[in-house]
Amino acid sequence: MRASSDPNNQAFVTISVDDGHPADLRVAELLAKYNLAATFYIPAHNPENPVMSATQMRELSQRFEVGGHTLNHLPLSSLPTDEVWREISEGKDWLENSLGKPARSFCYPMGKYGSRAAALVKKAGFVGARTCQLNLHDFPDDPFAWGVSTQAHNHGRAVQIRHALLERNFQGVLNFLGVYRFATDWDAHFRRALDRVQTHGGIAHLYLHSWEIDQFDEWHKLESVLRSISQRESLIRVTNGELFAMWGARNRVPAVTEAGKQAKLLIPKKHE
Ligand SMILES: [Zn+2]
Repeated sequence: MRASSDPNNQAFVTISVDDGHPADLRVAELLAKYNLAATFYIPAHNPENPVMSATQMRELSQRFEVGGHTLNHLPLSSLPTDEVWREISEGKDWLENSLGKPARSFCYPMGKYGSRAAALVKKAGFVGARTCQLNLHDFPDDPFAWGVSTQAHNHGRAVQIRHALLERNFQGVLNFLGVYRFATDWDAHFRRALDRVQTHGGIAHLYLHSWEIDQFDEWHKLESVLRSISQRESLIRVTNGELFAMWGARNRVPAVTEAGKQAKLLIPKKHE
């Protein structure tokens, strides 16, 4: 992580890669090529797509953060509470046993979450959780409802707005109009997040599924976006877990500690 000269205008960039598909390893190669930080969210099993081997996952974790994405990649909102708990806690145990280190970050499968799932994620010992809420670029009020700026997948305008309203992501609707200016191409959309964060501070957060990049043959497009991020040297490259830890340091650690002071300095004020 590199420090900016102006602590009140910190600009972060982070990347999430979901689902642990074997093509994630190709994403990892590109991220390494451009020296970018990222968090890979990997479930033990996924009924819809193959998941990389434990050996590949361990190798990936040498260079990147690997976060929890449950045991079976099921929508948590539709499961009974004991199964939700099992999915979250046993998914964490599986990941930590496979990696030989703690897992701090969590991502809700398919972005399905509510207060029940969030409370169980916290109880399991995760420090933050990512959703699929789009068009966001500020530190959230709740670290267990962390949104993203852009999904590396084109969405029409109506879909963006409907999706945001269903998730009660009203800030996302406002940002889609005012900051992202109705961009439907994900490349243009994310470049607007980068521009915004470079000027005003905040977090430009791209999330992607490697199998979608593969399906739409967008590897060149992805590389061009990653190259563009790497050329914006004022952006501080962080994993999701580093952001969650900063949020925690600002909000939970008493301000008298050195860690608290440092974290306060690192966190930009909220911008409209
Ligand atoms: Zn997923």
